[in-house]
Amino acid sequence: MGVRMNHRGLKALRLEDSVTARALRILPAYSAYKETYTLLKRSRRWSREELAAYQAQALSCLLDHAYENVPYYRRVFRERGLVPGDIQTPEDLALLPFLTREDLQNNLADLKARNYPEAAFEYVTTGGSTGIPVGFYYEKGVSRAREWAFMKTQWDRVGYRFADRCVVLRGYVVGSAEDGIFWKKTLCGRWLLMSSHHMTEETMPAYIDRIRKFKPRFIQAYPSVAVLLARYMREHDIEPFPTVKAVLCGSENLYPWQRDLLTESFGCRVFSWYGNSEQTVLAGECEESTRYHIFPEYGIVELIGRDGRPVEGPGAMGEVVTTSLVNPICPLIRYRTMDVAILGEGLCTCGRAYPMLERVEGRLQEFIVTKDHRFISMTAVNMHSDVFDNVAQFQFYQRKEGEVLMRVVKKPGYTDRDTERILRELDRKFEGDVDVTIRFVGTIPRTPRGKYQFLIQDLPLGQWGISV
Ligand SMILES: [Zn+2]
Repeated sequence: MGVRMNHRGLKALRLEDSVTARALRILPAYSAYKETYTLLKRSRRWSREELAAYQAQALSCLLDHAYENVPYYRRVFRERGLVPGDIQTPEDLALLPFLTREDLQNNLADLKARNYPEAAFEYVTTGGSTGIPVGFYYEKGVSRAREWAFMKTQWDRVGYRFADRCVVLRGYVVGSAEDGIFWKKTLCGRWLLMSSHHMTEETMPAYIDRIRKFKPRFIQAYPSVAVLLARYMREHDIEPFPTVKAVLCGSENLYPWQRDLLTESFGCRVFSWYGNSEQTVLAGECEESTRYHIFPEYGIVELIGRDGRPVEGPGAMGEVVTTSLVNPICPLIRYRTMDVAILGEGLCTCGRAYPMLERVEGRLQEFIVTKDHRFISMTAVNMHSDVFDNVAQFQFYQRKEGEVLMRVVKKPGYTDRDTERILRELDRKFEGDVDVTIRFVGTIPRTPRGKYQFLIQDLPLGQWGISV
């Protein structure tokens, strides 16, 4: 609330002094950051009961606010004959409907909170590497600062400090193939952004040389991009970068084989988190474990099965449905992320009482469907296995149940023997229930954001999720 008042006050000030004006403009961002970071430092020691009490209170504030100020939710409550007081705990959320991406797109204007000035809305879209991009709103200057406080809290667990040098491999396009410079520095020279679009067998030595000279303490990367570098290093017996303390992996699911390969090639901790740009869920590993610890202050997470009800018991898998507690300007309640995860059990040795996800299996669109309609996660395909030694890149494509096309970019040493071994390995993974056809291609294009997609799924698996 204090943050919003600052924002409004700022408009009325009309300061002549540009330096003061600039200082005040960053004030809402700074207080959002500070407030959140301080809360997270305190709440990491809270018990389950204390966290539940915090969440119940935050949920009650959110629902009161949504009912009062957000036309979409006023309608949702009225249609069901409900008032915010009917929902006291996260379990009671089941009284409200799910919010799909389509609902979000079709009702965006009505999801804007009326008690914020127009100038406070920042329009943001998701990447849309799978499916249609989705648009929503952040609170200008505040949402990103708050997010950064959560990220910094996670990275603190592997010793990240503001002054640290960081190489960022996240698909930024900088420079051009002609001038041979595929990177640039930002944040007063502390971050080196490197384009994944130009990474090839030919340019990789220059990348490695530049990273070594930059002496980064951390590498931030999309897993699919870090893997390109890691594979090259392993194949050419290149020593890990001695200064790198951890590889920070986000924005894509990190498959177990990718973790193994990155750990081996970089010789350091691989730290991963799971979140979305809609800011409804954030969960990260801790100092002691690779399970995803869900921030209860960030959002409420439900895992929902195909029957539309919460999944139960160890190893149960469900779609991640989330209620954001951090973005009141455009509230998303019971938002279907289309991601699938497995519930974690028990407590972690780190002492945080956060709920956990054992694993994130990936997006619904990242499953292969067998002849008998089973869903096989891409986590099952281990590209780190030596079966793929002579494969430069691969991508699956499915448009019919029980059949996949595998596009393969060969390395020079590739022979028919490799084809046989790959087919045998996949037959084992898919338990004979998926027919695989291999097609050799020259390249596999990256998405506009520079990621590699291991599977293009043309079956409408979104409908596999919970019924709406
Ligand atoms: Zn832990």
